[in-house]
Amino acid sequence: MWRASILTLFPELFPGPLAASLAGRALAAGIWTCEAIDIRASATDRHRSADDTPAGGGPGMVMRADVLARAIDAATPAGDPRARILLTPRGRPLTQARVRALAESTGVLVVCGRFEGVDERVIEARALEEVSIGDYVLSGGEVAAYALIDACVRLLPGVMGKEASQAEESFEAGLLEYPQYTRPQVFEGRAIPEVLISGDHKRVEAWRRAEAERITRERRPDLWARRKGQTTERE
Ligand code: SAM
Repeated sequence: MWRASILTLFPELFPGPLAASLAGRALAAGIWTCEAIDIRASATDRHRSADDTPAGGGPGMVMRADVLARAIDAATPAGDPRARILLTPRGRPLTQARVRALAESTGVLVVCGRFEGVDERVIEARALEEVSIGDYVLSGGEVAAYALIDACVRLLPGVMGKEASQAEESFEAGLLEYPQYTRPQVFEGRAIPEVLISGDHKRVEAWRRAEAERITRERRPDLWARRKGQTTERE
């Protein structure tokens, strides 16, 4: 069973959207577990404070290293092999390859930041892997945790119906996905491309491939360059 432990100041947010649809059915079926842990439970003072003002001054609050470390230690007994991920905009961008590796492991411990982030020393002391879900700033790590966990859970054995559907998805072959169509055959004057109703599987495959390449080239020159083994200019 794949285990997700989430350290958060808002445990009531879990499983949240992860209780619906594909991930929710897998949760109910016992394919994975979702354990939300309140970081405040590891605070020792009367007010259960998990944050304090930043050393050196400046706006906002910073999550305390000692409180967070205690929460991490309680959630991951010695020998727990799971990756320990801190969600942060300055982390390495999450990729489908990393998601796949996590899905193939025994689970994940996810730390959700709030305020200005967490004290650097707990990142070092607990060897947290810093991961970002994109170049924008959320108000907390919980929404990022939904994204990370959802992406992993759908890859767990038995979660998705057709294993084959995975292989053709965006990023799996270094390409974005080709356009998809379904009924009706004509929508507001737009017909489904003729090739897709031709019944000629070879032609369908070639068309999808060409479209996936066109879309990747147009929208994601970075992916396209990587795929071609070229080096992109640094921004
Ligand atoms: N002061 C931080 C900075 O400039 O990098 C931003 C902190 S943000 C307001 C609060 C928390 O939201 C972060 O600690 C992190 O857990 C989460 N978060 C925000 N944006 C994120 C992103 N793009 N990826 C992952 N987590 C994110």
